[in-house]
Amino acid sequence: MTERARDTLAERLEAVQDGISNAARDAGRSTEDISTIVVTKFHPASLVRELVALGVRDFGESRHQEARSKVAELSDLDVTWHFVGQVQSKKARQVAQYSQVIHSVDRAPLVNALASQDGSVDCFLQINLTGNPSRGGVAPDELEQLASRALVTPGINVLGVMAIAPLEENPRSAFARVRESSDQLQTLIPDARWISAGMSSDYREAIMEGATHLRIGTAITGNRPQAG
Ligand SMILES: *Cc1c(COP(=O)(O)O)cnc(C)c1O
Repeated sequence: MTERARDTLAERLEAVQDGISNAARDAGRSTEDISTIVVTKFHPASLVRELVALGVRDFGESRHQEARSKVAELSDLDVTWHFVGQVQSKKARQVAQYSQVIHSVDRAPLVNALASQDGSVDCFLQINLTGNPSRGGVAPDELEQLASRALVTPGINVLGVMAIAPLEENPRSAFARVRESSDQLQTLIPDARWISAGMSSDYREAIMEGATHLRIGTAITGNRPQAG
């Protein structure tokens, strides 16, 4: 792939789609079992419209205020919004109002905060692979307890597990641990078999370890306007 060939949004999207197809083939999986969520944080609403014109239907955002105003501005579009950033418990009900899927449910107070919203929201339980409790996610050995709580909480539909590979670890081995957590979750909630993992730099490894929902930003959008 030459630099020239990656110049436009359409070309970057196509390059990533090719990369996903290749990884799926190498993993012996079907691309139909793999969804791509394009993470558009820090980018303007106009970029989302360009991506919709290219066929993208799933979008990810990670900051509540930015996400809320972008979703409102784009309310005419028939797309699915995924919230992938950390959620403050007191903002949880608002996030659930404009997001169809929340990927970052990681603690009991957040589960409780989501319980009282109207209707039901699809959620992933985020696992912290770093061992540093200040990062988002529940420790793997506390996943079962959190899942049990979510299971008995009305208004929450658990889809599976979500994780971000730590910078200091080989992504393949990190995602292998995510797969173990996924297996563990399914012993409690058999339908919760989806895995949200894989970003611009490691989606291939995530696909190898069973990821079903990729969250890809810069490889498709180009660099974000501000550091983030
Ligand atoms: C920003 C972000 C992504 C996308 O990251 P890229 O490296 O730009 O692909 C994925 N997941 C989460 C939780 C993010 O915050």
